[in-house]
Amino acid sequence: MNVHQSHETVAGDALAILERLGVPASALGDKGLAARSPIDGKLVGHVVENSAEEMTAAIGKAHAAYMAWRQVPPPRRGELVRLLGDELRAAKEDLGRLVTLEAGKILSEGLGEVQEMIDICDFAVGMSRQLYGLTIATERSGHRMMETWHPAGVCGIITAFNFPVAVWSWNAALALVCGDSVIWKPSEKAPLTALAVQAIFDRAAARFGDAPDGLALLLQGGRALGETLVDDHRVAIVSATGSTRMGREVGPRVAARFGRSILELGGNNAAIVAPTADLDLALRGIAFAAMGTAGQRCTSLRRLFIHESVADSFVAKLARVYGSVAIGDPRDRGTLIGPLIDKAAFDNMEAALAEARSLGGTVHGGGRAREDLGEAAFYARPAVVEMPDQAGPVLRETFAPILYVMRYTDLEEVITSHNAVPQGLASSIFTLDLREAETFMSAAGSDCGIVNVNIGPSGAEIGGAFGGEKETGGGRESGSDAWRGYMRRATNTINYSRALPLAQGVTFDI
Ligand code: NAD
Repeated sequence: MNVHQSHETVAGDALAILERLGVPASALGDKGLAARSPIDGKLVGHVVENSAEEMTAAIGKAHAAYMAWRQVPPPRRGELVRLLGDELRAAKEDLGRLVTLEAGKILSEGLGEVQEMIDICDFAVGMSRQLYGLTIATERSGHRMMETWHPAGVCGIITAFNFPVAVWSWNAALALVCGDSVIWKPSEKAPLTALAVQAIFDRAAARFGDAPDGLALLLQGGRALGETLVDDHRVAIVSATGSTRMGREVGPRVAARFGRSILELGGNNAAIVAPTADLDLALRGIAFAAMGTAGQRCTSLRRLFIHESVADSFVAKLARVYGSVAIGDPRDRGTLIGPLIDKAAFDNMEAALAEARSLGGTVHGGGRAREDLGEAAFYARPAVVEMPDQAGPVLRETFAPILYVMRYTDLEEVITSHNAVPQGLASSIFTLDLREAETFMSAAGSDCGIVNVNIGPSGAEIGGAFGGEKETGGGRESGSDAWRGYMRRATNTINYSRALPLAQGVTFDI
């Protein structure tokens, strides 16, 4: 693939993929949401934007679909998700490339994101035969107590630009087997991949045959459209992925109407490199976690605590790797770092680096790269910043490839520093010392939702529950028992005796 493709080629490529994936021409227009590719910063087209009234009507339709879908046996619901996985397999090359064109990820990551969708579909199909509850010992003879899990209702899905398709599938695949209907409000920065996914879903639904109308709907718009979804009492669950700022608004609004929210918000992820670490492995793990996806993953590595006994040589090696990494058009197979999503992201990065300098930080890297790829395309040189301590921008999530490095001497102290930020998503320790590894994973260790040993914090698999604590929002999605978040639980007590003993020995003889 030619690295210096013209704007027409980027847009033409995206439009051809949309057509191949069956997106109707009517979804695109001359006005509405502007869809841009960060590869060249230019316009691909406009996507029809939905109004608040259309959202309200869609919620009504989705609610009616839920009323029918909840009666369909779960393994049959799983069949729809199996067909979705099937369609995604067929569309993988095209959809993966479209993710690259719209979000700027390198091709292997674009394809990897679609693979993640396929994986969660497979997982959800299996789950559709395992939506189990407990049978619980009862204190009353001739009684049985158990729990039953039922569909919860309409699940609203709000997603961020950086995982424009996988996050929908984490939610939708589980919600659909759980008997919910779904409404998707994707990021206004990634409307094209959403159109493609909806076309793929519609194909699966047509093959399925009798899925109720309105079972999975897509509505496009910005924050205001999201608010309409968030505030509607018919939306039982709001699963919202994005910044902590967004979660701070969405969480209380959903709670105010006693709805349920699943919040997947920002991270400020750290790794510790201990004296016994396999330093070569640590270097590779850290490079991917910190620079991969141009630092635009919620799990990107942002803080590195390195033991002072290995710090000098390790930081020197890291700075060398940062200085030589291939930055460029993400369609080029040699590229490891693609563009930032837009100018605002680049400006935020520069502002954070300036603040770090003012606090005594030594910055290696940073600044704009590959200006030849377009005036409105923002490629950044990744930056390693040696900080005297954890302050200022180190305490925040800057969605860009900045790695703050700090030195430590004592494990207990560094765990305290590790946990001393508002966010709690992903974390790692690089060590060959069993005591250190176990301590980091113990109750007195990392306070994050994801705690790794000898791999970086980014790149989670779908089999585990995904999410984090504190300002990351506390939600869990994807594997393990995250399906419970999409269902409501009923506790059933059944009396098969002729007596009526009351619990706790209470008597009430009439
Ligand atoms: P963002 O918060 O700007 O937008 C995310 C989504 O929320 C968009 O669809 C947006 O329209 C919507 N939104 C914003 N305000 C809203 C409101 N008040 N009510 C309803 N909807 C609203 O985030 P972004 O820039 O697209 O994505 C980057 C952020 O997402 C980073 O902070 C990153 O860490 C986070 N993220 C978290 C996870 C996770 O699983 N924890 C995954 C991906 C991204």
